[in-house]
Amino acid sequence: MEDPTATLHRLFTPKELRAIQALGVEDLDELLRVTPLRYVVPGPLRALDDVRDGEEVSVIVQVRRVSDRPMRNRPGHLLQVRVGDDGGALDLTFFLRKKHQVAWHRGQLTEGRTILVRGTVERSRDGSPQIVHPEYEGYDPAAADAAELRRPQPVYPLRERMNQAGMRRLFATALEHAGELTDPLPEAVLRSQQLPPLAEALRLLHAPHSLADPPVALRRLAAEEAFVLQTIFARRRALDASLTAPSMTADGPLRPLVEQRLPFTLTAGQQEVGAQIDALLAQPHPTSVLLQGDVGSGKTVVALRAMLRAVDSGRQAVLLAPTEVLAAQHHRTIMELLGDLGLGGRLDAAPDATAVRLLTGSLPQSQRRQTLADILSGEAGLVIGTHALLTDTVEFASLGLVVIDEQHRFGVDHRRRLRSKGEADLSPHVIVMTATPIPRTAALATVGDLDVLSLREAPGRRAGMSSFVVEEGNPAWLRRMWERTAEEIAAGHRAFVVCPRIDETEDTTAGEDGRVPRGVVQTAARLSRLPALDGVRIGMLHGRMGAEEKRQAMEQLASGEVDLLVATTVVEVGVDVPEATVMIVLDAERFGVSQLHQLRGRVGRGSAPGIAFFETRAPGDSDTAEHLRAVAGTLDGFALAELDLGRRGIGDLVGTEQSGLGRTLRFLDPLRDRAVVESARTDAQQLVAHDPQLSAHPGLAAAIDRRLRDVDPDVERS
Ligand code: ADP
Ligand code: MG
Repeated sequence: MEDPTATLHRLFTPKELRAIQALGVEDLDELLRVTPLRYVVPGPLRALDDVRDGEEVSVIVQVRRVSDRPMRNRPGHLLQVRVGDDGGALDLTFFLRKKHQVAWHRGQLTEGRTILVRGTVERSRDGSPQIVHPEYEGYDPAAADAAELRRPQPVYPLRERMNQAGMRRLFATALEHAGELTDPLPEAVLRSQQLPPLAEALRLLHAPHSLADPPVALRRLAAEEAFVLQTIFARRRALDASLTAPSMTADGPLRPLVEQRLPFTLTAGQQEVGAQIDALLAQPHPTSVLLQGDVGSGKTVVALRAMLRAVDSGRQAVLLAPTEVLAAQHHRTIMELLGDLGLGGRLDAAPDATAVRLLTGSLPQSQRRQTLADILSGEAGLVIGTHALLTDTVEFASLGLVVIDEQHRFGVDHRRRLRSKGEADLSPHVIVMTATPIPRTAALATVGDLDVLSLREAPGRRAGMSSFVVEEGNPAWLRRMWERTAEEIAAGHRAFVVCPRIDETEDTTAGEDGRVPRGVVQTAARLSRLPALDGVRIGMLHGRMGAEEKRQAMEQLASGEVDLLVATTVVEVGVDVPEATVMIVLDAERFGVSQLHQLRGRVGRGSAPGIAFFETRAPGDSDTAEHLRAVAGTLDGFALAELDLGRRGIGDLVGTEQSGLGRTLRFLDPLRDRAVVESARTDAQQLVAHDPQLSAHPGLAAAIDRRLRDVDPDVERS
């Protein structure tokens, strides 16, 4: 087969190739899947009322009056043509160099003739609509080609100074070669779901006969997207089913001992999810669980119980956190819960104890070597760490379970890589935990290879939580926000102030309001001068600090050396400071729903209630402010996820990293296309059962490759 880039070079001019590249497209297949922004359908002038300035239109009108005169300030002629219909009138304006050009247009535009005009509408100074240099052609409603002329014209995004006519030519050229593409959808699926084949769908999209055509094409492309994804999931599940995992069923001794020591009783939800996980861990094939639950819903202890089951079954378990701060925190929490049951190998250990090890990138060499040895010998039953654990130097004696905390920072590719960390012929089970729940409606479409379990109660939030939107335009509220913060601090509590940027002087991309988003460095300086915060000790935390610096900043806040921490979203994930009660988010409109929700989940985790302030420059009556108020008014993360899905579509809700699919959904809308997803799932499972290597379906295999192209290349390729 010809190299896809070579195909493009054969078909297009250098200028067109530049435009194609600017569209982010790498081959003919992707090019033809670029959807027109809209369609222009020739119609009467009346339709102009709704047309915005600068928008392309197409109208069928009569020539009323034609006039020309030499231009005043430069050589050439101005030709003006008044056209109209029952609905009104419009001026067509031409600037022409030569007299003979004027004569030519006058020959075409004879008074009384009906023409079809296409061009961009502008308002002239007196507000009347005009089109400068329109395209036009004669139009006879009785003629054979009339229907052809009335066809909708696609409007494409413009790139590289290519005009709309140029873009249309480009796509028309591409469309001539649509037949060369291989259809990812098997014929049986096309037939059973009554979908057009790929080439036909692309024709409906780029050269429709009527406005009824493009939706048919989009439906087919959505079905295709669903099918490609479901095939990926079916293959992952089939692969898992072909692998062997340790079936872990031991009912003690360690886990019951630890459970007796828990400082609380498990909620019904934790017990239920725990039982579901136990059932999966008993499977002789590796299972992949997505455990979702709001911040504070108590995922850690659920994970710990699963890990202890692994240890009781003679295996090791590892817990991975996205940052060193979090890994250290998990280590501390688990050591506290285990007490002398976690001191395995030491003289003061309890009988039946296991050894817990922390492995992070900043561990000194000698300690690292010892830790690696403990992991390799199997002495370490529970291992906690960061990405460092993924490197090749880490070998386990008998890894049975991998738990990944805060999955959206990790990615499914890591999950896959860990599969190879088990004993030669044993793959570990994997649990990924996320505080960003995926709505049920979307889960099947996006993480269909995982078993999704949810924790809905939030035992960690007994003290209550309130959230407020604070408009920057309201100085009284703003003052009150800082006073309230000072009051909390005076009562022995702590506060976070989160900014969208690290440094205002470096990133000067202003928002819609023309202002630069707030930075940590400048905000910390400003707050230290704020009278309301007099005497408050202010610290900083952001991603450009070293691991040790970050750890210190967190520790100072935890110990109370610092009262208020100005930070970027590095605090978003899992940080636990029970004394923290205030979360202020500056320029809150710049954060996503789940980010705001996670941020506020950082406070009020101890015995005192939490308060979150979403500070924004957006005016109170704006959609943005309205949206922030909706987030402030809902504390249930699952409800928020649904709200977000309804509002924006799937968008970045399931981010690249979370889905591990390289790109988010383009044509598929899980809310609307639920049935499409379900039948794609059934069809894909059937196909994979018969043809796991997809050898009879090269088009599908190619589409899967394309979909996974940006994902870690050595993770998934069969
Ligand atoms: P997350 O799901 O955000 O990781 P954690 O596991 O950190 O939540 O739990 C949040 C807090 O709730 C912790 O302090 C934990 O000790 C506490 N917690 C967990 N389960 C329970 C429970 N059943 N009853 C009371 N407190 C609990
Ligand atoms: Mg957590």
